[in-house]
Amino acid sequence: MKVLVIGSGAREHAIVKALGADQAVDAVIVAPGNPGMDAVALCEPLPGGVEDAEGVVELARRHSVDLVVIGPEAPLVAGVADVVSAAGFTVFGPSAAAAQLEGSKAFAKEVMAAADVPTAMARVCGTVEEVGDALDTMGAPYVVKDDGLAAGKGVVVTDDRAEALAHAQACLAKEGGRVVVEEFLDGPEVSLFCLCDGTDVIPLAPAQDFKRVGDGDEGPNTGGMGAYSPLDWAPPTLVDEVVTRVAQPVVDEMARRGAPFSGVLYVGLALTSRGPKVVEFNARFGDPETQVVLARLETPLGGLLHAAATGGLAGVGALHWSPQHAVTVVVAADGYPAKPRKGDPINGLGEVDGVDTAYVLHAGTAREGDGTLVSAGGRVLSVVALGDSLSQARERVYEAVGKVELEGSHHRSDIALAAERDELHVG
Ligand code: AMP
Repeated sequence: MKVLVIGSGAREHAIVKALGADQAVDAVIVAPGNPGMDAVALCEPLPGGVEDAEGVVELARRHSVDLVVIGPEAPLVAGVADVVSAAGFTVFGPSAAAAQLEGSKAFAKEVMAAADVPTAMARVCGTVEEVGDALDTMGAPYVVKDDGLAAGKGVVVTDDRAEALAHAQACLAKEGGRVVVEEFLDGPEVSLFCLCDGTDVIPLAPAQDFKRVGDGDEGPNTGGMGAYSPLDWAPPTLVDEVVTRVAQPVVDEMARRGAPFSGVLYVGLALTSRGPKVVEFNARFGDPETQVVLARLETPLGGLLHAAATGGLAGVGALHWSPQHAVTVVVAADGYPAKPRKGDPINGLGEVDGVDTAYVLHAGTAREGDGTLVSAGGRVLSVVALGDSLSQARERVYEAVGKVELEGSHHRSDIALAAERDELHVG
């Protein structure tokens, strides 16, 4: 099998790495990819960007690929999967209509209401007055969400009513801008990726990510600063419950609406005292959770994604997982998330590989003409490590992160710490 992967982040690097380890995969092509993927895949430029559907079709034809895997949300919402599929290729990733589960939070809420899925009470608002009303009804802490895609930065959770209103105002100022004001959900968060083929659902292992930029969950939300899996503290019935109460009803509802969902339904949950409730849906693998989930997946990934893309999940048996613990820590550029600085040299990556089980996944990196590796984005790279225990995985990952040299960079030092200390409690 030849596979074309679209994207350039650490998520795509993790996908490419897992595909490279699948005996059934003969070649992996990635567009545009990043310097870290060179060793495991053929990186092809995509001058029109990841939303250039014709550019993706051209690459798929040129390399006669058997499967196209679309990593990020923007091309999915823009309909790239539809165009590539209409050109005769097998695509892992939902149609534009199905990707609306991520593309519009208001749409996701409507589908959840129709499918009776437990989620936060919410109100869709089109004016500042409506937002003000909704904030007063829900009370603090206030949760205000941009209705559309915002690269993980569209949500503000705050006790400060003025800040909540200001965020709403900024979102409403965009053309067709709407916001969703939500009830605050208390309890630890869990991410569960569910592979879907339009009819059937196969859950992967749950993971937990860390959205805030600073230790102790301080500071603004980011695209994600770290993650770990498995979650020993989570109820053993959690995965089955989420499939039965959330993923399967949503897949059924989307099929009923004539927009069958295939790809990954990423279910973001809060484990509240009143049971798991959906915080968000994404229509693709989430980053950084994908890094730790795929680090533990022993079932070959290529066959699994192909089955999801071709309506074949019913024929897939039980998945196999490594019993090891995986932790990933994101190394971010100076100024991330507000104003990341680019162009700083990155050193020490060879030494990361010297730490038992540790490896680097690239995200915002670039190679200069003279071969120097430099930072080129907010989340520059991730360091992943495995261990027989969560403590061992944490020890290794932080030893390895200590080897990375990037001026002004920062990372969280408390990824998976509460779980290691057994401080997480449902509800
Ligand atoms: P979203 O983009 O919807 O995933 O939101 C980003 C982050 O904001 C989530 O991972 C949560 O940490 C937080 N968040 C979103 N909705 C809520 C909510 N209703 N209650 C509490 N926190 C929330």
